[in-house]
Amino acid sequence: MRIVSGIQPTGNLHLGNYLGAIRNWVRMQDAMPADGECLFFLADLHAITVHNDPVVLAANIREMAATIIACGIDPARAILFRQRHVPAHVELGWLLNGTARVGWLNRMTQFKEKSGKNREGASVGLFGYPVLQAADVLLYQATHVPVGEDQKQHLELARDIATKFNQDTGTDLFTLPDPIIPPAAARIMSLRDGTAKMSKSDPSEASRITLVDDADTIAGKIRKAKSDADTLPATIAELANRPEARNLVGIYAALADQTASEVLTRFEGKGFGTFKPALAELAVETLRPIRERLNHFRADPAELDRLLDHGATRARALATPTLAAAYAALGL
Ligand code: ATP
Ligand code: MG
Repeated sequence: MRIVSGIQPTGNLHLGNYLGAIRNWVRMQDAMPADGECLFFLADLHAITVHNDPVVLAANIREMAATIIACGIDPARAILFRQRHVPAHVELGWLLNGTARVGWLNRMTQFKEKSGKNREGASVGLFGYPVLQAADVLLYQATHVPVGEDQKQHLELARDIATKFNQDTGTDLFTLPDPIIPPAAARIMSLRDGTAKMSKSDPSEASRITLVDDADTIAGKIRKAKSDADTLPATIAELANRPEARNLVGIYAALADQTASEVLTRFEGKGFGTFKPALAELAVETLRPIRERLNHFRADPAELDRLLDHGATRARALATPTLAAAYAALGL
């Protein structure tokens, strides 16, 4: 089994990013048998398909790497690297551009969403992004790729590209990766509005708990979080029209790794005067070790770079034979 997954480097990571995304990686790593491999990369080459301030991007790449390790990805076990450090991604991406069809890419809904009304003004990179994504996974003969709803179509495309390449060249060079649909990832909502997703682009700092917030900040944000005057009911169904209450219960459940029902069983009949301090304590204690490790790497970027270089060396070794075989299959 070989799992490959990438994440765009961004800063300002919050509780939603941890519970909804990064924690799944940690769980895949921890569940991986000794003869399998997890490859996780910072998708810095994908990041440049839209405009980025180079200084900000450089800082975000380190911040994201530090966060991932702080959250529990162990660079001695999982292969953690920057995409840009393994040029084979770009090379195979180009080779696969000869296989992918314009008509296939035209059907990608993410490009339509991201380019919006300004299709003509979008970068060629944004249009071709799914081909580089196909290269990202085919390069390592990935057997499994974790995909959220929004990425299912891109994985299908990667399988189509692999199938056509194998057929066109009369080889069985590429493994067709299967999707892993992560177990219903927690969807964390804003602390200010239970109907809006917690998001790093929300202008209100009070709407999210970030992974660098200290204990007092976390407790303060939870104390001020929007809630209501009712007590907690026995069942989730009764929270249907109380989005803020449902969100806070959901956050507790995700942090404690329990179901929302289990949380309600414990807090039924209690008001937010009781529930919020309990939630704050749980959040502070869960996030404390992450924040401490994150601050350690922020203070020691050289150590971080060393870990990423080590990951890139391992990734390059795995990529080399497949890239060589792809060139050969094309007669190059
Ligand atoms: P932006 O507002 O810029 O879109 P974001 O906060 O949504 O930022 P992303 O970088 O888009 O964060 O997402 C990174 C990962 O975190 C994705 O896998 C995404 O599904 C997950 N994620 C983001 N927000 C949440 C959330 N509120 N709850 C659960 N998962 C989330
Ligand atoms: Mg988002």
